[in-house]
Amino acid sequence: MSAAPLALPPWHGSLWGVVAQAMEQERLGHALLLSGLRGTGKRCFARTLAAALWCERPAAGRLPCGQCGNCRQVLAGAHPGYTVLRPEEGKRDIAIEAVRGLCERLAMTSHNGGAKVAVIDPADALNRNGVNALLKTIEEPPPRSYVLLVAERPLALPATLRSRCQQLRFAIPPRQQALAWLAQGEGVATENLESALDAAHGAPMQAQQLLQEQQLARLQEWRGLLLDLAAGRNEPLKAAAAVGEDQAAAFLHWLYGWLLDLLRGALAPGTAADGAALARSLPRRQLDVYIAEVQDNLRRLEFNAKAQLVLEAVLIRWRGLVALGQKS
Ligand SMILES: [Zn+2]
Repeated sequence: MSAAPLALPPWHGSLWGVVAQAMEQERLGHALLLSGLRGTGKRCFARTLAAALWCERPAAGRLPCGQCGNCRQVLAGAHPGYTVLRPEEGKRDIAIEAVRGLCERLAMTSHNGGAKVAVIDPADALNRNGVNALLKTIEEPPPRSYVLLVAERPLALPATLRSRCQQLRFAIPPRQQALAWLAQGEGVATENLESALDAAHGAPMQAQQLLQEQQLARLQEWRGLLLDLAAGRNEPLKAAAAVGEDQAAAFLHWLYGWLLDLLRGALAPGTAADGAALARSLPRRQLDVYIAEVQDNLRRLEFNAKAQLVLEAVLIRWRGLVALGQKS
């Protein structure tokens, strides 16, 4: 009996169809840009695509078997033709030396003539020099070389780079599909699925992570802090202390998604009625500005800004924004 091939979540089906057909016809782009919100499965897709390029026994639809030597090596991150480039620990940018090294490896002929795949994750961690070095490789791609750029914020990438990539956009799947997929996970408590998906702003992989790490209670607490601040039941400095500096980055990531939800007015009725009312009361333009500020503050944290001060500043501004809404 043969084992099942690697499975992709159902919302990847049409994107996989595009790359599978391109592989079949040997016209897969040498540079692919995988963009979409956090938790939509871009990384998982990139790894599956790499495995598919080497798999010895691909299944129907070019899905990799997940069992052969090549598949196992890719899944373990140990395939000689497979490189994942990330910033070093504590650094924001991917070092230029690392990009040059990668381009050299892509240019070398592999011993068996097989594919070479580089995943750059996140692609917006490339600085200008890194982009320039990579552009040379992308403009004259070595045969059978593939660069997969993973980006939550594709517009942060230079247009020169974006325009040379085949684009794959990962959307938030329909709610029922996401819930059904989450329910298949091992040992997940079904009563938490809805709230995990809400907390993850509809992104299933992120919801799954929340369920696994049992972080839901913390997110509910954060949401409570913001609503209490909005209602004048708490003070920004106290709220910042309650979040705690070691959670500052996680909080800002979550806050960013929550604000986007507010902006879309996408909070499901009933589950977050207070959020929906709040969303309507906030001045739209200032909310846009605030969302950009939250992103800037995330970057400041990456540059080792004082976490507690960043949190305080963000929460003081949040209360200011709500107060503006109440005045108007
Ligand atoms: Zn395989």
